[in-house]
Amino acid sequence: MRRVVSPYGNHSGSWLRGNLHTHTMCSDGYLPPWDTVAEYARLGYDFLMLSDHDALTEVDGLDSRGMVLIPGNEITDGGGHILHVNASRRVPPLKNRQRVIDRIAADGGLAILCHPNWEKEFNHWPQRQLERLNGYHGIEIYNGISERHPGNALATDRWDRLLGIGRRVWGFGNDDTHKEIDQAKAWNMVCARDRSVSGIVDALRSGRFYVSTGVYIDAIRVSGKRIIVEARNAQCYDIIADYGRIVARVADTVLDFSVPDMFWEKFTYLRVECHGPAAIQAWTQPFFLQK
Ligand SMILES: [Zn+2]
Ligand SMILES: [Zn+2]
Repeated sequence: MRRVVSPYGNHSGSWLRGNLHTHTMCSDGYLPPWDTVAEYARLGYDFLMLSDHDALTEVDGLDSRGMVLIPGNEITDGGGHILHVNASRRVPPLKNRQRVIDRIAADGGLAILCHPNWEKEFNHWPQRQLERLNGYHGIEIYNGISERHPGNALATDRWDRLLGIGRRVWGFGNDDTHKEIDQAKAWNMVCARDRSVSGIVDALRSGRFYVSTGVYIDAIRVSGKRIIVEARNAQCYDIIADYGRIVARVADTVLDFSVPDMFWEKFTYLRVECHGPAAIQAWTQPFFLQK
């Protein structure tokens, strides 16, 4: 039976705002861990992951300032960078990145491949490598620090190519904070069942979150063949299908989209981009068209 499969389900919970990619003075960041935590708490974040390069920065002893601190690191040396979310131990930066991903999975963590379009070739992660690797949970579709580096902070092009070949990977948005100017560039809004590491990690694992650079979504619902997205400061919604095709553009404050029957013949997924004033945006995870 034809239906729209939503990672958001009928889950009710509050949205928690968080950044999963943050460097401190334990690697090449500009602040010590405790000041980094204080800065993000001041900005109104609900959770934060310190992700120093090839180092597991201790978070248990830190004053969380009311946030949930997720242990993690960024596997860096010797290949494409990988965020290890919910790390209970350090995974060494093995050149064989499949083995790194496998070890992260064995540790009960999530692997996120970082900034695919970083560097002047826009190719930190060659697409063939993204397609060859298995078992990772997502890629960064927005990497804040890349705004001030060669390359493109945005990597939805890479994501649509992966989704188009049937890979079910989630899109993440992070600051990759090294300096103060990197803060609050992009974040994840997570619909977690509770305000805990496991509540947030479970939601990230199953795709109950969206990425934002300033547009706030209040509700994401699927009802039959309708996709409904209510974003309080959106002016326009784009619906994107396989390989990045824009299949609908709706100028309204609320999106209520009935998926046409023919879409099940042509497409395997739909995702929604919500556009607000001054180029701020939000990106939902994909909704899958199940036959
Ligand atoms: Zn990196
Ligand atoms: Zn980084």
